[in-house]
Amino acid sequence: MRAFVIGNAAIDETISVDGLPEPGVSILGRIVSRDLGGKGTNQAVVMARGGLETTLVSATGDDFRSATICEQLAQEPLDARLSRLSGISTDFSMVLTTPDGENANVTTTEAAEALPLDVAMKALGEAEPGDFLVMQGNLNAATTEALLKSGRERGMVTVFNPSPLRPYFDRLWRFIDIVFLNESESLSLAGSTGQTAAETLHGLGIRQVVLTAGTNGAILSTSGGDFVHVPAVKATAIDTTGAGDTFMGAALASAAHRGGVLDARAISHASAASALTVARRGTRRAFPSRDELAMIFAG
Ligand code: ATP
Repeated sequence: MRAFVIGNAAIDETISVDGLPEPGVSILGRIVSRDLGGKGTNQAVVMARGGLETTLVSATGDDFRSATICEQLAQEPLDARLSRLSGISTDFSMVLTTPDGENANVTTTEAAEALPLDVAMKALGEAEPGDFLVMQGNLNAATTEALLKSGRERGMVTVFNPSPLRPYFDRLWRFIDIVFLNESESLSLAGSTGQTAAETLHGLGIRQVVLTAGTNGAILSTSGGDFVHVPAVKATAIDTTGAGDTFMGAALASAAHRGGVLDARAISHASAASALTVARRGTRRAFPSRDELAMIFAG
């Protein structure tokens, strides 16, 4: 089986500062990491490293950040189809972190919002029933809805990560089979967390709900009543960027090894994979390697 990830590609820059700046004040900072990121890209990289044949469809501008994204993606075992759009800035995230653990994050989505629908639809033309279509909240509303609808019509398994939160998600639920979300997304979208939230989301037609809760682990709920809690794997966390993306990518890659069935084993594998990510600084460079994922999946 294959996965088609249609989402954003970005450069993540983390800058260490003594304190977050007040309005109108200039401060000094130190770059602590600059890495390939973007939720769509992160999830695709982990899936591909996990042995799932993965196509990533994304858009960038035509600038220095785009060149870096292309170079880094070329080192990954995935089929990356980037539209380089002129007159548009490549997306990036700037994370300011302070010594006491506070942070502030600015993310641009100009390129993701401009992803040409026809390029993404063309890629979906290669999909077979049962393949994963994986999407997030970075593309514009019309593109996201059209692609999920098309995935559903093609018999793909549609997987959605409702992040960043957008007002248009209400239109999407009816096209979604599996949702992965964290606690704050769950509170915003379902008004609760845990099993209650899962039931609310099943009521919208979503077959499987995976709710992650940081060090409290994750739950997998399947409509019809199956419910499992998987604890987090102990780790010394130094940078949790990309924990949720690693979790989702590893869970889907693990499921693909069993014909695409998302089960408790996939969630355990995802917990082990994300424990590796949180113990390392950066985004792509922090993700588990192919060998590490193979070892996790063998367990
Ligand atoms: P992020 O936005 O940082 O990528 P998220 O908020 O989407 O993450 P979380 O629920 O924080 O997602 O984390 C996803 C999974 O990663 C958790 O279910 C857990 O398995 C693992 N994880 C997160 N933080 C830790 C930690 N400190 N130690 C061990 N595992 C962790």
